[in-house]
Amino acid sequence: MTESHRISGLGASAGIVIGPAVLVLRKENDVAGQADGLGVEALARAISAAISTIQSLADAAPSKDAAILDFQIEMLRDPTLFDMAAERIRKGVDAAIAWIGTMDSFIADFQGSDDELLGARAVDVIDMKNHVLDIMMGRPTRTFPVGSIYVSRDIEPSLFLAHDWSKGGGIVLFNGSTASHVAALARARNVPMVTGTGPIELGAEPILLVDGGTGSVIIDPQSADIPANVSHLPRAEHGADPGQYPDNGRVETADGISVEVSVNISALSELDHIDPATTAGVGLLRTEFLLSSPSDIFNEDEQFAAYRRIMEWADGRAVTIRLFDLGGDKAFPTIAGEHGSFLGLRGIRLLLSKPEILRVQARALLRAAPFGQLRVMLPMVTIPAEVEETATIIQEEADLLSAAGKHHRVPPLGMMVEVPAAALMLETFRQVEFFSFGTNDLGQYLAAAARDNPAVAGLHAAATPAIFRLIAASVASIVSTGLPVGICGDMASDPQCLPTLLDCGLRHFSVTPSGLMAVKSAIRALTANPRRTAN
Ligand code: PEP
Ligand code: MG
Repeated sequence: MTESHRISGLGASAGIVIGPAVLVLRKENDVAGQADGLGVEALARAISAAISTIQSLADAAPSKDAAILDFQIEMLRDPTLFDMAAERIRKGVDAAIAWIGTMDSFIADFQGSDDELLGARAVDVIDMKNHVLDIMMGRPTRTFPVGSIYVSRDIEPSLFLAHDWSKGGGIVLFNGSTASHVAALARARNVPMVTGTGPIELGAEPILLVDGGTGSVIIDPQSADIPANVSHLPRAEHGADPGQYPDNGRVETADGISVEVSVNISALSELDHIDPATTAGVGLLRTEFLLSSPSDIFNEDEQFAAYRRIMEWADGRAVTIRLFDLGGDKAFPTIAGEHGSFLGLRGIRLLLSKPEILRVQARALLRAAPFGQLRVMLPMVTIPAEVEETATIIQEEADLLSAAGKHHRVPPLGMMVEVPAAALMLETFRQVEFFSFGTNDLGQYLAAAARDNPAVAGLHAAATPAIFRLIAASVASIVSTGLPVGICGDMASDPQCLPTLLDCGLRHFSVTPSGLMAVKSAIRALTANPRRTAN
């Protein structure tokens, strides 16, 4: 009889799942080191393998996504690319480096095009380049079976989003962090996830029990290991039922202070499981996670349709849509390029450096605004000039829509408070109409500890008092303006943080959908004016 083996990690997304595990180990991204000795044949094989992989993806994809993939296939089939790279290889350059060099000159041509549509193709070429590179470097194909437990060093947001979680499944990461974006996505969709387990070895056909609440993983669980109420349950049967309280997300603390609770949304499908009458609307829409392909960044109509759908779902309740927060560990890192690190071109910085991306999104938002109560929020703001520049661009696009006779409305502009330099100077942001604290980033920047690095995960928790102190001072600095100020970072979903956040003066909490009920219940039991529980 097999024996079970228990491993401890960090609970990143609550819920228990039992299922077959798939171990996915990718090599590190050090192309130069691994490229040595690869020749023309390796490149030819990688291109041909990439074509078949992309072809099978295209066959299974909806027609819109398939068109993007067809474009990649056509380009890969064009012998010009191969010939150019092969020429470099014959001159002594390693295949991977030759492929990068060849593709980068093509990418520059696309990026330099005056034609907006052609310019948008650049990101597809970047994806394609990386696809062939992954194959050449021997990195496994970025898919895994539906319903399985994904076990790996880490998982990219794009891989998470491309996966069908409707049949269950879970995630176990050797590294990873409970504060990463994938962890937030997993929480939003009730996908059990454990991080920081360290390397795990799995035998043949392993079965795992993943408990994302306690952070434990059991390899080959025996019946004694399985909690009485758990079997191979479908994901939807876990978690609270957010439909219980149709209170429009307006709850009163025990001492009668009114507090609003909204939801954070990262995918349109999440709306299917939330009754809007249980929320004050959407407090944060992470638009970067709605992009299924890099070229969607330039698809104004598709963005407009998504935003309109959310406004209609909200049925008159406030919907706060955040401009793309690309860069850092977010979707499509290739768009941000080498400067898109956590401390580089990310969020509003990236959008202002590539205003063609911002202009498309601005038009989609302006057109969606008449369909409800839209508010637009800027990510990663550091200084007031960034807000002013963004407002100017949005107004310019509004003027163009007016000239073209297109129906639109200019929505109020607000900002994420997630960069310490901004948090300390909130009263100087005179053009801003609302604020929302992003404690996931505020925490990582305050503690100088990357949110996706498990080696420093403990520092985030240890920095909590510093985050509270900063929020309290920030809120106090703008209290006289009467402007709305809320929080949409994960701290808002943590009932243990709520007493202090209420003390700080926050009255709007935007939370992960699976935490909605717990947060509302906790707020009802607390006093907003010192002190604590009602009884
Ligand atoms: C945050 O930083 O707290 C936040 C809500 O934004 P994101 O997690 O998307 O970076
Ligand atoms: Mg953030």
